[in-house]
Amino acid sequence: MTDYVFTPAHIPSLAIQGSDARFPLRRVFCVGRNYSEHAREMGHDPDREPPFFFMKPADAVVPAEGVIAYPPLTADLHHEVELVVAIGKGGVDISREEALSHVWGYGVGIDLTRRDLQAQAKKLSRPWEWAKAFDESAPTTALQPVSAIGHPSTGKIWLKVNDEQRQVGDLADLIWSVSEVISHASKSVALKAGDLIFTGTPAGVGAVQPGDVLTAGIDGIGELSFTLSQG
Ligand code: MN
Repeated sequence: MTDYVFTPAHIPSLAIQGSDARFPLRRVFCVGRNYSEHAREMGHDPDREPPFFFMKPADAVVPAEGVIAYPPLTADLHHEVELVVAIGKGGVDISREEALSHVWGYGVGIDLTRRDLQAQAKKLSRPWEWAKAFDESAPTTALQPVSAIGHPSTGKIWLKVNDEQRQVGDLADLIWSVSEVISHASKSVALKAGDLIFTGTPAGVGAVQPGDVLTAGIDGIGELSFTLSQG
């Protein structure tokens, strides 16, 4: 047994719908601007940009239930509801045709974003981590295995804040499909079992306040609800 100088942290993991087993997490890749209307609302031309990625640490993934921390250093925390792809088989330079065979399952996640820090990072040409990769920044539902739901390519994706509809879209509106996203990512890094990919958010992102209740879902995949802490 390795003699660590302190007890290593537990491996972060996600629940699996209909099973007591858990999905062990390795890394979290996130796609930026993958729905046209959201790209436009952020001031970009959706037709001219190949997919790009940023990351969150695996321990930013927490169950999307109960109370989630309203993070420090922001006055403009934004919600982004996203289809989450769970990779079950790793690979390098994966073709679009082969890509879905690497998927273990799907979930619904929120890419919480400190938009004010992101705007500052963009302005100063700095990295996005402080805007995106903070503690509890990726609340996610239990995963649905491909063996149960197949590979959904359509389905309403939505988010409400305190029962007010904020985001609504359809998986059919993804600019880069799940297959294409996996293929692109695997040309940059070797994907590994346990990796998650947040696939981007539809239009309607906006600010949330301490104490707000966020409810979201994707038809056929899952729903979530949590309350933001008082900060
Ligand atoms: Mn996002």
